[in-house]
Amino acid sequence: MEDDEMSEHMWSDAFDLHSHSTNSDGEHPVERVAELMATEGVKHWSLTDHDTIAGWEEAALAAQQFGLKFIPGVEITCEPSLPVSEVEMDRWGRDRAPTSWHLLAYFPSSLVNDEQRQAFAQWLAPLGESRGPRMAKMVELAQHHGMDIDLQAVLDRADGSVGRPHLADELIAQGYAENRQDAFDQWLGDGRPLAIVRSKPSIREAAKAVHECGGIVSLAHPIYYGVPINQLTASCQEDGVDAIECFHRSHPDSYRHELMISARTLGLGLTAGSDFHGLSYEQTPGHMPVPLVDMPSSLTQ
Ligand SMILES: [Zn+2]
Ligand SMILES: [Zn+2]
Repeated sequence: MEDDEMSEHMWSDAFDLHSHSTNSDGEHPVERVAELMATEGVKHWSLTDHDTIAGWEEAALAAQQFGLKFIPGVEITCEPSLPVSEVEMDRWGRDRAPTSWHLLAYFPSSLVNDEQRQAFAQWLAPLGESRGPRMAKMVELAQHHGMDIDLQAVLDRADGSVGRPHLADELIAQGYAENRQDAFDQWLGDGRPLAIVRSKPSIREAAKAVHECGGIVSLAHPIYYGVPINQLTASCQEDGVDAIECFHRSHPDSYRHELMISARTLGLGLTAGSDFHGLSYEQTPGHMPVPLVDMPSSLTQ
């Protein structure tokens, strides 16, 4: 990108740095995600499946095919850094905070070589693999609750890493839930009877591991965590987080604005992502304007 394009007032909606495929809990295969990104006008795309980089190779090829610049990414499941504030939850009309924080990690070619990506894959592998055993425990719990659920049937529903949406679909197929929303509300959502917590790195540990492999990190969808904005940005800065996903589809403009000012004060970068999971969730990729001056420069090259 040319320097004169990076003026203070320039915003761009050509970046979508947060999306999911069937390698985690997304609805579409990698190639289809790339195609939808291109259709919606995205130029710089990151695939950020949960705790797996299984889609990277396919995504790089698909990006080429659809004229996108691909940034290898992943969404790492971490322990929360700070407790939930009920006041902050009320302020943004949110009723339940998740039991984990999500850290987006990016490994752009301008920063990272293949050897470093390999090193990161090794660090990540045990976190991703824990999804398999965790699903076995969740299916066991379902059986304790008198449900006739077969682990293999759930695993067969996943292309790559298995997750709660696959169990949700099996619950629906067996008549234990009406639809995915119902399955999560009744059984699978954080704090519900079949949700199992797994071991997670702290934000600081994950950020350190990514940095050691040459990448950078951005805290995903911070509004979910119910933490006052100034506390959140201060904690990110302390933990070595490079940027915050200020522009996420779940953030109202007032939240984006307040967070942008707070992050700028501390010298933190800002990123944008639709967190696209699939068309049947009534989501659209792209259309997430971000001020270019706030983007980490390695992501705009
Ligand atoms: Zn997330
Ligand atoms: Zn996500």
